[in-house]
Amino acid sequence: MYDVVILGAGPAGLTAALYAARAKLSTLVVTGPLVGGQITLTYSVDNYPGFSEGVGGVALADMFKAHAKRFGAEFLEAPATSVDFSGKPFRVITRERNVEARSVIIATGLKDRKLGVPGEDRLQGHGVFHCATCDAALYEGRRVLVVGGGDSAIQEAIDLARFASEVTLVHRRDSLRACRCLTDAAKAEPKIRFLLSTVVEEITGEKRVEMVMLRDLKTGSSYSVPADGVLVAIGWYPNTSIFNGQIDMDEEGYIANVGVKTSVAGVFIAGDLMDRVYRQVVTACASGCQAAIEAEHWLIGVGEP
Ligand code: NAP
Repeated sequence: MYDVVILGAGPAGLTAALYAARAKLSTLVVTGPLVGGQITLTYSVDNYPGFSEGVGGVALADMFKAHAKRFGAEFLEAPATSVDFSGKPFRVITRERNVEARSVIIATGLKDRKLGVPGEDRLQGHGVFHCATCDAALYEGRRVLVVGGGDSAIQEAIDLARFASEVTLVHRRDSLRACRCLTDAAKAEPKIRFLLSTVVEEITGEKRVEMVMLRDLKTGSSYSVPADGVLVAIGWYPNTSIFNGQIDMDEEGYIANVGVKTSVAGVFIAGDLMDRVYRQVVTACASGCQAAIEAEHWLIGVGEP
């Protein structure tokens, strides 16, 4: 039995762990294999205050974890498979063991969205990928398409250009959604070219990605380009399927919330799950802090721990 069980170990979950543990609440963080969440996919986090030269995403995640551990937070590397919020204590079922919790903080973040085109699933991990930081080195001297027009796509294209011989950014609209700073940096990179008003229709290749069929939305014509990889960076969807039926959610899977509070008293939310606008490391940390403080107030209010 823990005072606080935190589901998810991105910046939000790790900050919640730091605050909860430092408040002397017994704290368990239930994590997947990747502690750090989305930041571990970022080569350099340039906008986290205090790191004027930037900091590696994995390095920052390690620091967050060490900080939470210093105050006694425990970690269980075994993804949660279901939860029971119907009674007290709450129950969290993981692949390894079942855990009881007086309060829960949900910080499970978002998952990569898929294009939904033929070949994408079959060639996933064989040329179709989502993370330049993880896989860019495999594309040294190769041709890669990046799909998407937001900050992620542009950031991934820039990271990839350090390795790939040619990066083609394919975006469905005729303008990019990404911020000016990233767009300018991508435009200044000679290895990156832009194919706007263009969609991916199919990804082909026998064992690995070999060709990508594109359609020019302005002319309606389809054509194939050779490619060794396709990095899909078209946003995310909430990682909340295990909470179905346990808590109020909308049709997209976002958990209903008022600030960090959910429809279940004692269950709080933090991070990208509750943020459709900012989605920055610093905002995730801020909501993790708020969730931990609210959990502490709630536990005191109900006479626990
Ligand atoms: P996003 O801003 O939602 O952008 C998703 C992009 O994918 C959009 O350009 C969208 O097209 C396109 N898209 C969506 N579905 C598609 C489909 N089925 N087929 C083709 N294209 C599709 O997502 P994001 O870029 O992952 O960024 C998410 C959040 O993280 C943002 O708030 C961003 O600021 C933040 N972020 C920040 C940084 C940074 O500061 N360095 C880095 C990464 C992410 P449309 O434009 O037509 O909608």
